[in-house]
Amino acid sequence: MTAFDTLWASILDVGKHPTTGGYRRFAWSDADLTLREWFRGCAAERGMDVEEDRNGNLWAWWLPVGWEGDPTDAFVTGSHLDSVPDGGAFDGPLGVVSAFAAVDLVRERGIVPTVPIAITAFSDEEGARFGVACVGSQLTTGALAPQRALGLRDRDGITLAEAMTRAGRVPEHIGTDPTLVDRVGVYVELHVEQGRALDLVDAPVAVASSIWPHGRWQFTFTGEANHAGATRLVDRR
Ligand SMILES: [Zn+2]
Repeated sequence: MTAFDTLWASILDVGKHPTTGGYRRFAWSDADLTLREWFRGCAAERGMDVEEDRNGNLWAWWLPVGWEGDPTDAFVTGSHLDSVPDGGAFDGPLGVVSAFAAVDLVRERGIVPTVPIAITAFSDEEGARFGVACVGSQLTTGALAPQRALGLRDRDGITLAEAMTRAGRVPEHIGTDPTLVDRVGVYVELHVEQGRALDLVDAPVAVASSIWPHGRWQFTFTGEANHAGATRLVDRR
């Protein structure tokens, strides 16, 4: 078994739904917390220090020998560990597992880094629980206001603030983190292709040149509920 295989096997059961076989790893759920602990364990095994930043993003650091002070201009790689409802196994974890496996491979080859290296797992990337995607990185960059984030609710009416508190975090601490800009020099992410693009060209891997933007909107329609076919046009609102 390769380092990747061993790491991959260690998370295969986490958050897997017994009936659908899909993954339900929603932000700040038990599955998410288990994966966060798994991340810490992987880092500890490799002697990497872990920090969870104020917005719940995880960072495992491998600093050059003799490095002092905060890391700057780091080579950062990783992805996310949460999932969409009944998501696939690879969406997100592929990038994190590959990053730890890559560290093992680089060390096996005796390569010594001259810049800080970080493995990251961004918090609540999918937005499957609270309806806003990339909450962790949006908060860090200032694209999402803390007050709006804290008031987001899941299907059971639990706010993000409550979910973080239940998970033992301090929601009052969330917000923009300007030091991040100084830390990240380069960011590379391995992500599973979710369409047919690679299949059509028979290639195992490719470098993305752009990212498809996406958004979410909520509409409220006011009118009168009625049966679709039976309501005459003139009676519709
Ligand atoms: Zn993803």
